[in-house]
Amino acid sequence: MNGADNPLRALPAVDTLLNHPESGGLLTEYGRPAVVDALRDTLDTLRERLRSGASLPVDADSILANAAKHLEKQFQPTLRPVINATGVIIHTNLGRAPLSSATQAAIQAAAAQYNTLEYDLEQGGRGSRLIHAGALLEQVTGAEAGLVVNNNAAGLVLLLSTLAAGREVIISRGQLVEIGGGFRVPEVMIQSGARLVEVGTTNRTRLSDYEAAITENTALILRAHASNFKIIGFTESPSLDALADLAHRHGLLLVDDLGSGALLDTAAYGLEHEPTIQESLAAGADLVAFSGDKLLGGPQAGILVGRADLVDILKRHPLARAIRADKLCLSGLSATLEHYRKGEAVTHVPIWQMITQPLDHLQRTAKRWAKRTGGNVIPGESMVGGGSLPGATLSTALLALDVPRPDTFAAQLRDATPPVIARIAEGRVLFDPRTVLPGQEHDLLRVIESLR
Ligand SMILES: *Cc1c(COP(=O)(O)O)cnc(C)c1O
Repeated sequence: MNGADNPLRALPAVDTLLNHPESGGLLTEYGRPAVVDALRDTLDTLRERLRSGASLPVDADSILANAAKHLEKQFQPTLRPVINATGVIIHTNLGRAPLSSATQAAIQAAAAQYNTLEYDLEQGGRGSRLIHAGALLEQVTGAEAGLVVNNNAAGLVLLLSTLAAGREVIISRGQLVEIGGGFRVPEVMIQSGARLVEVGTTNRTRLSDYEAAITENTALILRAHASNFKIIGFTESPSLDALADLAHRHGLLLVDDLGSGALLDTAAYGLEHEPTIQESLAAGADLVAFSGDKLLGGPQAGILVGRADLVDILKRHPLARAIRADKLCLSGLSATLEHYRKGEAVTHVPIWQMITQPLDHLQRTAKRWAKRTGGNVIPGESMVGGGSLPGATLSTALLALDVPRPDTFAAQLRDATPPVIARIAEGRVLFDPRTVLPGQEHDLLRVIESLR
């Protein structure tokens, strides 16, 4: 190849491309340095491929279109929305609980404007950020006091640092859980300086095991809800009432780490009974710890409720400052808690809407999807997830697609805009309508149809 036939010579210069009318939009959106880099990269790649004999378009429009694609990928945030078609409702990898519209609006308002985070309007001076969700927590849980921190793991470290540093904490071997991402609750807990005294065996721990472990160095008894696994068969553990009684007889505290912490009774909705916060308090737990973004259905938070004198001590510990909740969390959590106060959580909090979605509604949705995509509807199971209700499933209807290479198809779904996360089972790609939010159906079907 030579002369006018050589496509390498026909390649436009970077400056020429920058002056092309199509560049205007790119320059405004991404800024000059990034656009220049993208054009250079695109031209380099093109040159290389032309040299190796490929025949490719070399006009400015095609090059700019390629650079635009490049820029879009490069500027895509790493944290972005996806469609969760897995049927796992509280999916820790996918951001746990999606938030109610009132919660979103509260967070938006706190983000956009100045607010009363630490300002007392009556006094015209400094207030406390701890009052915001505090009073609401008292109302909805019935506890004397409540405290919100960054997440439940942080709440536990604060609690143990304050009440048990340098002393002993008795916990059952059956409750030493790993919560995902390789984090083990006991390893987080010992960061407080407390020493964990493990009692009983994996499947059986008796009240007498706890009693025998009490020394003058014991600070408290900790029950951790084995929230993400289940031991079936020959098991035994004392009731929370009995543990509270034992602790109090010896002048010790009883702390209950509920993990998920439901305010509503899951048994009323076709699930197993997940212990509620109110039950733990009624049984005599001095402090109860749980997450804001599991069964509560709110933003990430660690919530501690219980005796007012203890919560007061926790608030004053220096660690409380290090793990404090921010304005976005506090405004969002308050809005979510309002749903419980008004008795409208089941109809307004997304994870509860998903849990309570009737099967016939899910079947109708799956049928509609099957019609559009040429798939089949099959029965299946959704999961609550997020370390709640291990093994508990909800009957659902799934869209099942038979495709030649399910793994490749699933990868293409993840690469789409927006990314779609599906399940693969028995050689088919499965989509659960339960976890697809109402506003996402259109995008979901568009993505599937584009790949069929
Ligand atoms: C999820 C969980 C935690 C950790 O809560 P985060 O809010 O994720 O920090 C601690 N304990 C138990 C029992 C849990 O299930």
